Amino acid sequence: MRRTTTWSIALVTSLAISGATGATVAAAATTAPVAAGTAAVTVGGSQDPTTARLLATIEADLPADWTARKAAALERFGIERSTAQEAVERAIDPTQYQCAPTRLDAYVGGLLAGVDPRIFRVLASVGALDYATYDAILFGSQGAPGYALPKAYVNELSQSFRAAQKFWDTDGSDIQLMAMHGDLMTDPARISPILQIVFGVPRPDADAIAAAVAELVATDPGLQGGQSPIFTLNAFAFSAAGETDPALSRLPDKLVFGDGMLDALQAIGVGDIGPRAVLGHEYAHHVQYDAGLTASPLTGPEATRRTELMADAFGTYFVTHKRGLALNAARVLEAEQSFYQVGDCGFDRPGHHGTPNQRLAASTWGWSVADAAQKQGHVLPSLTLDAQFEAKLPELVAPDA
Ligand SMILES: [Zn+2]
Repeated sequence: MRRTTTWSIALVTSLAISGATGATVAAAATTAPVAAGTAAVTVGGSQDPTTARLLATIEADLPADWTARKAAALERFGIERSTAQEAVERAIDPTQYQCAPTRLDAYVGGLLAGVDPRIFRVLASVGALDYATYDAILFGSQGAPGYALPKAYVNELSQSFRAAQKFWDTDGSDIQLMAMHGDLMTDPARISPILQIVFGVPRPDADAIAAAVAELVATDPGLQGGQSPIFTLNAFAFSAAGETDPALSRLPDKLVFGDGMLDALQAIGVGDIGPRAVLGHEYAHHVQYDAGLTASPLTGPEATRRTELMADAFGTYFVTHKRGLALNAARVLEAEQSFYQVGDCGFDRPGHHGTPNQRLAASTWGWSVADAAQKQGHVLPSLTLDAQFEAKLPELVAPDA
C-alpha cells in the first residue's frame, strides 16, 4: 500500500536538453552511470584530493547490495522516486526525454548549474535526495522548530490546512503539518540514523558515510550548505494507518512541504495558488487514507492514476468551494494546468499520474461539483463525492486513454 503520496510535479522531467547545464550533467553522468548493476557507486576520477577521499569513503562503506537496499527502502516507506532522481535518470539516458523543455527543466538545470556533477551523481547514488523525506517521516513533528514552515508561507498554509480539516468529513485532527528543510544535509548526526534505520547500515559505517556526505554537501558551493532546493523538492502525505512495520506503525499522519517544492512553485510562476493547490491535493490523499478510498479493483499504473486524479478532483473541489478556500476558479485551473504541463511528459510512464489533459479534466470536474453545490452551501460527504468521481472517471481519462 502506498503510504507516502508525493505531489507529482515533474515526475518525468529531464535535464538532458535543458541547455548547457543539462548537457554537462548528462555527459558527466554518462561516463559513470548511477546505480549500475549492483555496484554501489562508481566513483569517477576527481582532481580534488578532498573530494576524492570523501567519494572513496562512501564507496568503501556502502553495503555491497546497496542498490537493492535503496529500492527496498523506497518500497517500504511507499516513496516515489524524487523529482531530482528522476531528472538525474533522464540525464543519464537522454533518449527517454520526449517532451519540450519546460520552465521546470530550466529551474532544475539552474539548481545544478554550479554543482560538481561527480558530487551530485554520488549524492544521488547514496539516496541523499530522499534523506529529507525519510527524516521528516521518521523524526518530523508539527511545532518542532526544525520542521517549521517557512515564514513566508506559514499563515497561508496553516490556515488552509485548518480549513481542510473543517471542510472534510474525515477526522484529520491527527495529521501534522510541517516543512522539511535541507539543513540536515550538513549534519552527520541526522544523516547517520537515516542510514541505519532506513537502509540497515551498521553504525560505524553509517557514521563514516554520513560524515562524508555532510562534508561533500558543505564543500560544494552549488549545494548551498544543503539549502539547495534540490534536496527538498517534494511535498507529500504520509499515513501509517494499518501499518505493522514497527519502525513506521507508531508514526503520526503527516503532510509535509519541502522548501524546494515551494521554491519550485514560485519559479514556475504559480507561487500565488500553487502551495494551496498542492495542500488541497495532499490533504485529499489523507481523505482517501481515512475514508478507505485508496483501494479499488484497479492495479498498477491505472490504480495510481485513479487515486491521483481523485486527489486532483477532491483538492480542486476544496480550494474552489465557497466553504473551502473559495479561491478564484479560473486562476486555480490556470495554475493547475500550468503545473500539470510542466509535470508530465509521460510517454514512458503511460497513465502513471494521468496526463495533463486527464488531470485538468479531473480538476475541472472537481470545481464544477463545488460550483453546483454552492447554492446549497453544502459540502458533500467524502464517500458521496467519491461515488460521483468513480462514475465520472472513465470520462475523465477518455481523451488520452
Ligand atoms: Zn498525489
